[in-house]
This record gives sequence, structure tokens and C-alpha cells, in this order.
Amino acid sequence: MPVPMLRTLVTGGAGFLGSNLTLKLLSEGRQVTVLDDLCTGFASNIPEGVRFIQADVCEPLVGEYDEIYHLACAASPDKYQAEPLQTLRTNFIGTSNVLELARRCGASVLFTSTSEVYGDPRVCPQVESYWGNVNSFGPRSCYDEGKRVSESLCYTYSERYQVRIRIARIFNTYGPRMAPDDGRVVSNFVVQALQGKSLTVYGDGSQTRSLCYVDDLIRGLVCLMHAQGANLEAPVNLGNPHEMSVKEIAEKVLELSASRSQIAYRPLPQDDPTRRCPDIQRARGWLGWEPEVSVEKGLAATIDYFRGQLT
Ligand code: UDP
Repeated sequence: MPVPMLRTLVTGGAGFLGSNLTLKLLSEGRQVTVLDDLCTGFASNIPEGVRFIQADVCEPLVGEYDEIYHLACAASPDKYQAEPLQTLRTNFIGTSNVLELARRCGASVLFTSTSEVYGDPRVCPQVESYWGNVNSFGPRSCYDEGKRVSESLCYTYSERYQVRIRIARIFNTYGPRMAPDDGRVVSNFVVQALQGKSLTVYGDGSQTRSLCYVDDLIRGLVCLMHAQGANLEAPVNLGNPHEMSVKEIAEKVLELSASRSQIAYRPLPQDDPTRRCPDIQRARGWLGWEPEVSVEKGLAATIDYFRGQLT
């Protein structure tokens, strides 16, 4: 069946996830507008055929859309902590603007929340009904609390104004189109391995993450936006439930890139979560979604991508 020509806005569409999402939406025949202030994204990420508005989501938004994917916000701890007030504003003012726009034009909104709403979790794997263990008074709070207030805004616009909302709680995602200097674990390790530099493991590397390949994640976002049924405005975890220690991630990157780099241990950043692993029963049951790409396959594709970028 042909897909109707939906007018779609992607905020943060010049970033890692945003540009991968934009490509997917274009391939499905959508009319896509990207709004991005290029604070962490790149104009070169925006594909042909996309209308580009270079603007901060904190400025008032105009336009007519059927659906809005709201991704705008620095997502790497290095980047969001460098500009904490902007991170807070993007979440409170930016998400308010997106929801106001949606209310005016009747658009659906998919908000990209985060596993960070669980903070340093006391429950593993993290299920959506777990309320989390977040430090509101620390370096990660601008992002964690920002995303939590954004979820609260989504809830309120849904209850008060019947805006159709979807909330994806995204766990660590990696793959092509990540910026080499993004600062996150996979991009750092792959770039270091390819450049023959030591892989910087923070702490003793026993903290865990669960890595989702970008194609799986994007498929989940589109699925969630279009899913019909009761309760779908509630948050849904999207991530890969295969939990690995950071040290294991480093070793896997070394093996798959055939690098002779060493591992160098660095201090653990404050409030770095000890464990992170999604419970994805909700996504499985409600969306019929689960990740398909193994960490070996996904990391190999990511290593190939960075090899091309670095030469
Ligand atoms: N990390 C690391 N070395 C790096 C970058 C990150 O050991 O060069 C660790 C970091 O301390 C965290 C995990 O890898 O425990 C994931 O970090 P990332 O910045 O990718 O995202 P987070 O999940 O912390 O938001």
C-alpha cells in the first residue's frame, strides 16, 4: 500500500540519530523538514530533498506538520555537560515549543527520551514502570532531569490537549554517522583503535551498557510513531538487551578492528551509571519490535564506516 505523503518534522535531524531517521523517512516517501541549530549536528548530514531550517528549537516554531520526531538535544555526556543551561532549556523550552506546535497543527509527536531517566538504576534490567534513581544535583542532572521534565510535558499535553504523543526511552545506540569526536564509548573506542591509540576505559570498565545498532533503533522509532492501540502514550524502552561491560566493549572493538592498541584506564566520571540494560517486553508486545543486529555485525559495520571517515 502506498504511504500517504506525511509532512514530517525532525528536530535534531542533522545529528547522528536524526540524520539516520531522516534517511529512513525519505526512503519511505515522506516529505521531511529538518530543524537543527547545528550545535552538535552537521549540515553535511542532511540529505538532498530535505527542507532544512537552521534554528534553535527554543525559538518559537511555526509550520504545518502531520508528525514531529523531536530529537533535538545534545546527547553525549561530554557535549551536554559542556552547555548545561542550553541542555536544560532545550528540554524545557524546546519540548514545550514542539508540543505547542503539535497542538496548533494537530501533529503527532514522538519524543526521544533516554535510559538516563533511570539514573544509576537499582533495578536491572530497567523496566518502564521503574521510576529511577537520578541525582538531581550533579553534572548529569541537566540531561537526566531535562529529559524527565520533557516526559512530564508530553504527559501533560496528552492529558490536557489530547496531543498524540509517543515516548521512546533510548538506550545506548551506535553506528554510522556518529561524529568521530562525539565522546561516546563506541565512537571513542573505534577511533582510538583505528588510530593505534590506547582505548580510554573509564573506571575499571566493569560498568555495563547495552549497545543497540542504529538501524534497529530507527526501525523502532518509526514503528512506535505509527503504532495504534491503548496506552501507547506511555514510555517504551528501545534498546538492545545484550548487556556488556565497558571493558568487554573495548576488547570486542580491539578484536574486530584487528588493532594492536592497548587499554588505558582513566578516572570514572561522577555519577556514571553502574548498569544499564533495557527490559524490552513492552516494545516486543506493543510494537512487535526487537533488535536484529548482533553486536559483532553492528560494530564491524561501524568500524568500516569510521575507516572510511578517517582516511
Ligand atoms: N566510557 C569509557 N571510555 C570512553 C567513553 C565512555 O569508558 O572513552 C564509558 C563511560 O564512562 C560510560 C560508558 O562508557 O560508563 C558509556 O559512556 P557514553 O559516554 O557512551 O554514554 P552514557 O551511557 O554514559 O550516557
